[in-house]
Amino acid sequence: MAVIRVLDKHTAELIAAGEVVERPASVVKELLENSIDAGATQITVAIESGGVKLIEVSDNGSGIEPEDIPTAFIRHATSKIQTGEDLNAIHTLGFRGEALASIASVARVELLTRTETAEFACLYRIEGGEEQPLQPDARGVGTTIRVRDLFYNTPARMKFLKKDSSEGTFVADVVSHLALSHPEIRFKFVREGKTQYVTPGDGKLRSAVYAVLGREFSRDLLDVGDSTLGYRVYGLVTPPRCCRASRSMQYFYINGRYVRNRTMMAALETAFKGVAMQGKFPGGVLLLEMPADLVDVNVHPAKTEVRFARENDVFDIVYHAVKLALTQPGSGEQRFVLS
Ligand code: ADP
Ligand code: MG
Repeated sequence: MAVIRVLDKHTAELIAAGEVVERPASVVKELLENSIDAGATQITVAIESGGVKLIEVSDNGSGIEPEDIPTAFIRHATSKIQTGEDLNAIHTLGFRGEALASIASVARVELLTRTETAEFACLYRIEGGEEQPLQPDARGVGTTIRVRDLFYNTPARMKFLKKDSSEGTFVADVVSHLALSHPEIRFKFVREGKTQYVTPGDGKLRSAVYAVLGREFSRDLLDVGDSTLGYRVYGLVTPPRCCRASRSMQYFYINGRYVRNRTMMAALETAFKGVAMQGKFPGGVLLLEMPADLVDVNVHPAKTEVRFARENDVFDIVYHAVKLALTQPGSGEQRFVLS
């Protein structure tokens, strides 16, 4: 008797969802990336019970056409690419068309959206993959997504969540990482009913750092800016006297994506050798732009690791840029007017 069978659609969906949705923070990351891809200039994120009970992301982006709404929740449905060839030149944060489908299979989702040309907004509900018909509603141009009761139908996943306050901290990290790399967007973050910060959205990295990381950290930050061989690095680092006991205030980005990266970390810390006290670590926000074919960012949808084709070049450019900021303060600013 045959024992191998193809899983039913619902079970297959739940398994696939596990790849994308690990915890509230992964939902928030996907929703924020969608808002950014939709051209939003204002985004509000609110969470309750660490995001397990409620995640709400509201943006003033393009909105979704009514006839596209149910399609957006189908796996591998995307407006961002069309062919395999497009994979070689991705200009958006998303392209897999998996996030909304995954989220909707493990939570109760409500989408309220309106495009510029639409007469009114549309409200759409989908719970554990079961959808309800569209209803007319009201809101300005843009999209609001509410995700409630994450993992309500997958108790095994629910069990792996940490306590709400820890999940809330993971969410806060995701929001900070994106707010820092998009100073042109006004981010508002509300955690358990309390507004944590609102970034001004004035396009200046320094203003975003001030709003997100606070006044104490932002004081006397040094501008970093240098470019060579198709690489460009810019950002802000702490002055040597403000180095701290941990690496918790180091933020690295490659081609606009937040990454955890040993090469950039080593370059930053090596540049501070001799000027920072031993056992203390510099803080900073460093953004590297580099040829896309020399870095592999697509290791895994949710992971933040990358691989470089020429690791030494990355070390050298980051090291040199930070060294320059330390030895000739102000030089970074002159080379790059951060807009
Ligand atoms: P992907 O982002 O990889 O395309 P998603 O499942 O995250 O896949 O989203 C599916 C589609 O839904 C997107 O391609 C986009 O067209 C639309 N979409 C999702 N979120 C938004 C949003 N906030 N504003 C406008 N369109 C959105
Ligand atoms: Mg997406």
